[in-house]
Parts: sequence; C-alpha cells; structure tokens
Amino acid sequence: MVNVKINDEISLTDDKFLMIAGPCSVEDEEQIVGVAKELKKIGVNVLRGGAFKPRTCPDSFQGLGEEGLKLLSMAREATGMAIITEVMDIEELPVVEKYADIIQIGSRNSQNFSLLKRVSREKKPVLLKRGFGNTVDELIASSKYLSMNGNHNIMFSERGIRTFEQSTRFTLDISAIPVLHEKTDYPVIIDPSHPAGVNRYVEPLALGGTAAGADGLMIEVHPDPSKALSDSAQQLTVPQFRELYTKVQRINTVLGKTMI
Ligand code: PEP
Ligand code: MN
Repeated sequence: MVNVKINDEISLTDDKFLMIAGPCSVEDEEQIVGVAKELKKIGVNVLRGGAFKPRTCPDSFQGLGEEGLKLLSMAREATGMAIITEVMDIEELPVVEKYADIIQIGSRNSQNFSLLKRVSREKKPVLLKRGFGNTVDELIASSKYLSMNGNHNIMFSERGIRTFEQSTRFTLDISAIPVLHEKTDYPVIIDPSHPAGVNRYVEPLALGGTAAGADGLMIEVHPDPSKALSDSAQQLTVPQFRELYTKVQRINTVLGKTMI
C-alpha cells in the first residue's frame, strides 16, 4: 500500500487505521468546534465537515461555503486536527485547497473527469468516493485521473452503491475492500453512514468494514443529530461514536493495526 501522508504528524501506512469523524455539514462555530473537541478527546485526528454540500434538492441546506471552511480552520486551530472537506466544482477548488488538509471528491463527482484532472494538479491528499452507480473498475479508472500528475496521496472511499435493496439508503459493498486491495495500492476508507441512512445501522456496517480489512472509517457525528441541517437520521451522537470507536479499536488490536 502507498504511504498516504496527511500532514507532518499523520501518515496512513499498512499497520495503521485512520478514523475520520465529524458532522455531515458545518453549521456554526459552536457545533463544529464543540464536536471537534469531543472527537479529539476520543482519539480522532481527522475532522470531516461539508461546507459545499451536494444536495439532491436545491431547496435543501447547501452548506456555508467559505464561511464553513473558516469555521473548520477554527476547529483545526482549537484541536490540532486535520480537516477533510468536499470540493464540488473546479471554481471552488482554490478556496477549498486553501483551508483543507484532505480534499474530498464526493460520490456524485466520482466521474467528473474535468474536476479530477484539475484536482490532480494539487499536492494535497485526496479522498475519492465511489460513485453510487460505479463499478470498482470505474472507481480505479477515476483514480488514474487524480494521479496523472504524480500525486499518489489518494484514498478510496466505499460509501454504498445503489441496488434493488430499499431497506437501507445504499448497499455497502464490503467486497470492494479486498478487490481494491488486490488491484490497487491505495487505502480504502469505509463510510458506513451514507449506506446506513439511519444511525442504528452505522455501527454494524463500521465493524463489518473494519473486520473486512478497511484501512479506515469516515463517520458522521453531530452534537445533536435531531437538529442537523443535513443527514439528520444517520448521524451518531458523541456517546454513540465513543462506543463504536472502542469496538473498532478492539478489532484493530486483533488485526495488529494502530488507530490514528
Ligand atoms: C459526504 O461524505 O459528505 C457526502 C456527501 O457523501 P457522498 O458523496 O458519499 O454522498
Ligand atoms: Mn452526509
């Protein structure tokens, strides 16, 4: 596996397991800085939070934009955590690049080849999410756009695909983990939140992904999920996340991996 260097302190290697957590969207200072401090206490070093949000309906909360990125920076200042946030559009890239430690390409942009080509010119690590209608081979092909200028600081994220099954929001494809490991050198981060769609399914999917050999998890956690402006049903409370973290840690002890 390639060594993905996130910053001077954090590198994801074979014997490590990366935990990323934070709210779906950045909403206000109290929310993001507050949850970051709680997550840092648990042991999380990478904070997620969307500032530019890909919402199915235009009348849904669209994110705070640059203001959200500034709030993420405040959370980084307060905790020392690295920041991951999504870029949706080439136009937004300069501002996202200015604030983010890791650039996230969302599921809906997994085959936005112009965006991938433009992001390939950046030096920062990139988390490439799988398009929910894409095969593993299509995901791998997309990663080749990202690496075309020599940046191999790439992580894949399996976040569920669309199948005939309707009882969960998406179907988490755990098989993608061994397949990606066989076919590529990039780590695989499982996002159990978006396929679950409701918070009670998040933990089993997270544990399954960890046991199946994922290199990390990205989990949505909100200080008060019932008040969340996006993905309210699937976000974990801090106590729920703390319990999940302990269980994931136990599996990683068996697998000989250290959590970072
Ligand atoms: C997210 O992680 O914020 C997100 C929007 O997920 P996805 O792109 O997988 O739908
Ligand atoms: Mn979300």
